[in-house]
Amino acid sequence: MKRREFITWSTILGAAASFRISSAEAKQYTDSYVNIMLPKLENLRRLSSAIVGDLPIRVNVIKVADTIRPASVVVKGEDPFRNMTLARTVYQLEFRKGSILLDTGMDLETHRTFGKTEEPYYPENYEMVQKAMLSANMIVLTHYHADHVGGIVRTSHFADVASKVWLTRDTAQLMVNKPHKPTVSISQENVSRFNVVDFDTCYPLAPGVVILKTPGHTVDSKSLYFKLEDGREFIHSVDSGWSMENIRSQRMKNASWVNENEFQLLAQYKWLNRLMYENKDLIVLCTHDNEQYNTLIENGILGGGLKT
Ligand SMILES: [Zn+2]
Repeated sequence: MKRREFITWSTILGAAASFRISSAEAKQYTDSYVNIMLPKLENLRRLSSAIVGDLPIRVNVIKVADTIRPASVVVKGEDPFRNMTLARTVYQLEFRKGSILLDTGMDLETHRTFGKTEEPYYPENYEMVQKAMLSANMIVLTHYHADHVGGIVRTSHFADVASKVWLTRDTAQLMVNKPHKPTVSISQENVSRFNVVDFDTCYPLAPGVVILKTPGHTVDSKSLYFKLEDGREFIHSVDSGWSMENIRSQRMKNASWVNENEFQLLAQYKWLNRLMYENKDLIVLCTHDNEQYNTLIENGILGGGLKT
């Protein structure tokens, strides 16, 4: 995609969010966005083979905390009396000769800034994330939110791991200028020790791994595509939905404080459903879906725990 096209669509979608438009127009914007901005699986597959090397052998995951919210907050229109657990997860791509960590979780102090009451926290799992950061070849930050960057900002191993951190310029700028929580504030100087990069739409990150710009949850949000050695394919939708229910039923979260772009997210939900429909074996991951976390570990699709 040409940069000009990208800017045009970003502008249209930005504008669409700021004034009222009819639902027919909204649908047209969403359809156009799906067709123009969000890649086809065949493009992701091709791009994933751009970097030559051994493909990842496993996707591992661990959660550092749980947050419990009424279902009506997680998915618009759901039952306010049903509680849903949101897992605060960290994913890892395991290769034969190394690993890539996707986000870094958060420490207990940062976790406490999320809720009004004490909620479950798993210090031994956070310790595992810290060890996995030390052994990782690359640490990717998908967006600036505290439950994703807390583990690197608050680490006692900063000097050892900073040069392995990969993030885009917008995430770096947000981390410095608009920290999501007071506990994850970081200096410009420390962020400049990371690998700050930029790209327009999709970017090959490692053999079998592509990162995509999918703004909507936040302006700097990314998703990932990965293909394993055994042929299994995943899209990690990160925080597009908090639950697979958002994605499957194409319904927004109901959390005004997150300040999301509805057009972009509804387009992503549509895109993900289309990909799942057309590719029955494709697995879509969702950072905070606790049910998915338990089920996919139980049936062996995800490795429970990180390789350290
Ligand atoms: Zn999150």
